[in-house]
Amino acid sequence: MNWNGVIHQYRHYLPFPDNMPIISLNEGNTPLIKADRLAELIAPQANLQLYLKYEGLNPTGSFKDRGMTAAITQAVHEGADAVICASTGNTAASAAAYAARAGLRCLVLVPEGKIARGKLAASLAYGAEVISIDGSFDDGLEMVRQIAERQPIVLVNSINPWRLEGQKTGAFEIVDQLGGDAPDWHCLPVGNAGNITAYWMGYKQYGKGRPRILGGQAAGSAPIVTGQVVTKPETIATAIRIGNPARWRQALEALDESNGIITAVTDDDILASWNLLAKTEGVFVEPASATGLAALKQQIEQGSIDPTNKTAVCILTGHGLKDPDTAVGQASPPHTLPATIEALEAYLTQ
Ligand SMILES: *Cc1c(COP(=O)(O)O)cnc(C)c1O
Repeated sequence: MNWNGVIHQYRHYLPFPDNMPIISLNEGNTPLIKADRLAELIAPQANLQLYLKYEGLNPTGSFKDRGMTAAITQAVHEGADAVICASTGNTAASAAAYAARAGLRCLVLVPEGKIARGKLAASLAYGAEVISIDGSFDDGLEMVRQIAERQPIVLVNSINPWRLEGQKTGAFEIVDQLGGDAPDWHCLPVGNAGNITAYWMGYKQYGKGRPRILGGQAAGSAPIVTGQVVTKPETIATAIRIGNPARWRQALEALDESNGIITAVTDDDILASWNLLAKTEGVFVEPASATGLAALKQQIEQGSIDPTNKTAVCILTGHGLKDPDTAVGQASPPHTLPATIEALEAYLTQ
């Protein structure tokens, strides 16, 4: 199959006219990896069919590219010459790449010191104007919302409806990859709640079955779980370090309509699942991306989800190389040896 990105592939399901020029980096078409060893670990002898949707393999390393192809395509169509977003990092990198490809100016606001190194590196490399603010993601979002009302600049955060149009294609792909059926459980991290909203839109529109949605939030940053805005959100999973989600109401609707569950998991739970993904299945993700699996594991352990003969898909939202500092910080340092065969043999057989 000749894959030219999610708009081309699912054009009949998207509100773009046929002749509209598309800004794409051939995003989407990410692998759905069957994880049998992991399934046996988290649900022994339950015949759980566990799949990992590896969104870290998108062009800029996160699922944000699905929405950004749509948002930037529409911005160009409307004659924009600049776009702006607030970001914990992945939206910034994605906006920067697609803006570069479209020849648009791109401004990104990031919380000072709280953006993972790979995300900053990419945003700078793509030529975005990176503005570090002395505040949270939520503060930045408020600023860009207001500036987009005052100035001729297009906002490309997920409050932009085109972002969700693009992101919903993730649901279509999962159904197609599973052979035409939705899974029983769809597990994912929830930050600003754009993705949970988009996936639910997608499953409903595709009309090939609806999963129950399991959303995971980090315990130090769990406004939807507690029902309270978090003024100082904290978590190692910086991509979901958000205290006042823009799509809060829609997330609650998705949870309600799908008979779903939203739960909080600790940073230790997140890191344990992050380790399992890499060490059991060879899939390296950034910490936030392990939150869906952590939530599934927790709900199985607590008896709230019966995994027997069920199909579950965990959305792995971003690549591990986005956050190399956490990866190196979690591991013991490499062994050092003299550069001799004797030393290596002694090490190997010790
Ligand atoms: C953006 C992002 C999330 C959260 O998605 P929302 O749509 O904000 O809920 C989770 N993980 C990663 C890696 C992300 O980049």
